[in-house]
Amino acid sequence: MAKTYSIAIDGPSGAGKSTIARKLAAELGYHYVDTGAIYRTVAYFLDLLGVSPKDVDGVERYIDELTIGIEYDEEGKQHMIMNGMDVSDDIRTQDIAQKASLVSAHAVVREMLLDMQRDIAKEYNVIMDGRDIGTVVLPKATVKIFLTAAPEVRARRRCDELLAKGQKANYETVLKEVIQRDYQDTHREIAPLKLARDSIKVDTSEMDIDQVVAAIREIVGKKIAV
Ligand code: C5P
Repeated sequence: MAKTYSIAIDGPSGAGKSTIARKLAAELGYHYVDTGAIYRTVAYFLDLLGVSPKDVDGVERYIDELTIGIEYDEEGKQHMIMNGMDVSDDIRTQDIAQKASLVSAHAVVREMLLDMQRDIAKEYNVIMDGRDIGTVVLPKATVKIFLTAAPEVRARRRCDELLAKGQKANYETVLKEVIQRDYQDTHREIAPLKLARDSIKVDTSEMDIDQVVAAIREIVGKKIAV
């Protein structure tokens, strides 16, 4: 299939981006690209080496030793391959999320990942979620959506997600982390999280998943036949 469309879904953590993007990608037969997972893989790699995510020199020194692969299994699930090793599950912790937020502020990291993300979008119809997809990675995306929700709602969702996976979750701690990550992601110098000029904002605070999917489908349907 010739590449035609790209859908950018940006927003803070816990807004429901990945759930929505995955559902919609399956419906449309598009590639779902979770770009947060790529940043998490970088953070995980540096963490294993004992490099602090704030250490500019350390990040610059070791980043070239990292090769990232993205693979999809038969169910369409994205797998992150770090120097040949599948780390898809290892990167799903609150600790790595925080470190990814710090690591993602480095210019060298963002530059390295920019082409990787654009190359995928050149080859496939994609739904890509992240923080800077509509603003930086795919400024000409066919549809741009900014998905958000109140921090308290996002923290509650994150807690439920972690508990469902059998991980520990304390609401107050998660809320603090959500607020801290929002601050870091919106205040960094390069590619901060912000609403693109031509992005449509959807606040999911009062919506359940089915309502969000319906709302997004309607927005997408105005530009792409669904
Ligand atoms: O989406 P997720 O929570 O997995 O992302 C982890 C971190 O990666 C975010 O807090 C953000 O700092 C960073 N990120 C980014 N740009 C993207 C996607 C994620 O800076 N496009």
